[in-house]
This record gives sequence, structure tokens and C-alpha cells, in this order.
Amino acid sequence: MTRPVEITIVGAGMTGLLLAALLSRDSRFSLRVVDAAPLPRYDETLPLGLRVSALAPMSVELLDGVGAWPGIIGRRASAYERMRVWDASASPDGPSTVCFDADEFAVPELGFIVENSLVQYALYESLLSSSVVFEFEAPLERLERHGSGWRYAAGGGLVETELLVGADGGRSAVRRAAGIDSAETAYEQHALVTHLEPEYPHERTARQRFLPSGPLGMLPLGDGRISVVWSTAPEEAEAALSLSDDELGRRLSNASDYVLGALRAGGERGVFPLRAAHASRYVEAGLALIGDAAHSVHPLAGQGVNLGFADAALLASVLGAALDAGEYPPDRPVLRRYERARRGANAGMMNALTGLNRLFAADSPFVGELRKTGMMLFNRSGPLREKAVAIALGMSRR
Ligand SMILES: Cc1cc2nc3c(=O)[nH]c(=O)nc-3n(C[C@H](O)[C@H](O)[C@H](O)COP(=O)(O)OP(=O)(O)OC[C@H]3O[C@@H](n4cnc5c(N)ncnc54)[C@H](O)[C@@H]3O)c2cc1C
Repeated sequence: MTRPVEITIVGAGMTGLLLAALLSRDSRFSLRVVDAAPLPRYDETLPLGLRVSALAPMSVELLDGVGAWPGIIGRRASAYERMRVWDASASPDGPSTVCFDADEFAVPELGFIVENSLVQYALYESLLSSSVVFEFEAPLERLERHGSGWRYAAGGGLVETELLVGADGGRSAVRRAAGIDSAETAYEQHALVTHLEPEYPHERTARQRFLPSGPLGMLPLGDGRISVVWSTAPEEAEAALSLSDDELGRRLSNASDYVLGALRAGGERGVFPLRAAHASRYVEAGLALIGDAAHSVHPLAGQGVNLGFADAALLASVLGAALDAGEYPPDRPVLRRYERARRGANAGMMNALTGLNRLFAADSPFVGELRKTGMMLFNRSGPLREKAVAIALGMSRR
């Protein structure tokens, strides 16, 4: 092909911008990114943002590859070197606590905790000198087929595009307008998210305590605080929004079994309903879904954006390889290569997370004992541990 293939990415979130950054290095693509939200901004003099993500080393590598990582690590990111996961019926120091240490796997860290807004901003910043056309405050209003491509309106007149990528999150307007179903299961849990000051140092350790009502995740932040993701009954999470700081601190200290001593609350709080959702298909001619637009998973293993990044990387490589082979990238058989590689991997992760959440929520003493024995056996099994770490580090995408 002599002229560039026109691609529009709807959604300038973390996954949409990573895809734009990956494709922008290939002049055979002409890129436009539209987003309903205003221009991304980031101010490192403000307190840490509420929304943070645990980024696996593979995601860090992708961000580095497009030149966005220096803009993140040079501002604020917190490495975590250890992980501790335990059942509420056991002690955090007991033999059934699943422990991972970076040293054991010969890596400098297991991952980084980074504000979502910083990941988004650094990606946007890395694209400022590119030829990508951005349109912010431009919600998708209309989408229809146009020949072998698509025609859409987003904050202006009708625009034609050869390939439209839906990276517009869990409530994807692209997915709905294209008539793609999504199988959804509510977890009957909402996540309360807030940052807390622990009495004892977090020692760069990510912790998770599984309670019958849902997991309590504690991620170490660079300023010494921890970011808590407390998945619990929707009414309990909602009620926690209006508790006093003292009462919330007491409740979360109890829920954490005082593993870091008393936790002091203060600052922003948010509640997020949790669900598993999977699009029945990721592609059709001239259209592809990536990230949360294609799949939403439980945050218990901090995998959501890491899966979205793996989608973006694979789609970019499939599109580039198609051009190398003289094929037309928006063709369905080309896009199916992306879908085949990613849908099964994402489904596997989604099922594993749903299963884990159910297993730990089962309140029977028999299942509780089984869980503890299983965790002890897991601790002693080299191959199982290696496989789990490979997945957590993003080294294995299956
Ligand atoms: C409590 C919680 C904790 C989490 N922790 C982790 C973690 O530790 N690690 C991890 O990997 N993942 C985590 N996740 C998941 C992660 O946040 C998501 O997977 C990730 O944000 C998805 O990114 P995305 O770019 O696909 O979608 P989004 O972040 O939802 O971005 C979508 C973009 O599309 C735009 N948009 C939406 N609708 C339209 C429209 N109609 N027109 C134009 N633009 C539109 C939006 O403005 C936005 O910019 C967590 C999730 C939750 C709820």
C-alpha cells in the first residue's frame, strides 16, 4: 500500500494511548484519537491520585519501549518487591500465607504501583511530537458502517475511517454501536478505594487478605502510605464512604488483621461496582475492541490494565505484520489473528479470578481448611509458583 491506513482509536485511556504510541512509530498508519474527557493533565505537586494500578514488568517494558516510562519513573512510581496473600482464618505470618519475593525470581521488583492519571499523561506526553491527531471532549455520538470501514461523529461532523478501535472502557459505546454483546456477571461486591497511613512501614510489600466478604488489597505507595482496595458487600462499601476517618481507619485496621498496625484514614475515597464482562467477539471487519471495552476483570490480582496493554501490543504487531505481508490490516481475517490470540488468554484470567474470588468467599470451615492446605502446598510447589509468577510478571500471557 502506498497511502497510510487511517485508524481511529476511541478512548484515550491507558490502553488506547499505548496502542496509539505503538502504532505512531509506523508511518504506514495515520492515527486519530478521540475521547469524551478533557485533555489529560498531571500535577506532581498535588497529592497522589486515588486511582492507582499495579503494573507488571511486561507493562513497564511496553511503556519503556514507546518512551513513556521515563516520564513515569521520573515523577512518582512505587516499586514493590514482595507479595503476601493470606486467608482471613489464618495468620499473615503462618505457613499457609503465599509469599513471593523478587529475589527468589531474580528480578529487581515484582512490579510498580503508579497513578492511572500519570500513566495516561506520560503516554500522551510521549505522543506530543508525533503526527497523531487528538480530539478531546469529543464523545462518540454516532457510528455506522461505511463501505468496508466505518463512519462516526464525535464532537463534530462525520468522519470516515478504515479501522476503528474501541478502547473506550467497560461501558464501551463502540461495542454497543457495533452490536457486539458482552456477557456480564456482577460480583455482588463493590470496591472501596482510599489511601491510608499505616502504623508500621509497608516494606515495599503488596498484601492481600481474603475475607469471606471479599479481598482486601493493600498496595505500597511511594509516600509511605498504602492504597487500599476493599472489595466487599455493595452496601458496606457505600456506607464506608460516609464514615468518619477514625471509624474507617478502625474498620480497615480490623479487616487487615492489623498486619501493618493501625491504619489511619484521611483524604479521598471512591467506590467502584465490580463485575466480570467479556465481549462475545473482539473484532469485525474494520473494527477491534481492546482493554476494558473487551473485558473487565476483578481487581483482586491487579491484572485489568496489564491485560489491556497485552491487547494493545498484540493488535499493533498483527497490524504491522499484515502490512509487511502485503495484506490490508482492517480485513477481518487479519483482525481475527488478534482476537484468537487474546480472547482465550483473557477468558482464562477472568475465569481464574472469578474462581479465586468464589473459593475465598466460601464460608464453610471445610472449604477454609482446604484453602489453607492448598496454599501450603502451593508454597512448596516450585513449578506452580513459577507459573503463577510468570503470569503476575506478564511473562506468560496464557
Ligand atoms: C478498584 C479498581 C482497582 C484496579 N486496580 C488495578 C490494578 O492494580 N492493576 C491493573 O492492571 N488494573 C487495575 N484495575 C483495572 C484498570 O483500572 C482497568 O483495566 C483500566 O483502567 C482499563 O483501561 P482502559 O484504557 O481499557 O479503559 P478506561 O480507563 O476506562 O478508559 C476509557 C477511555 O475512553 C473514554 N471514553 C469512554 N466513553 C467514551 C465515549 N463514548 N466516547 C469517547 N471516549 C470515551 C474515557 O474518557 C476514557 O479516557 C482496577 C480497577 C478497579 C475498579
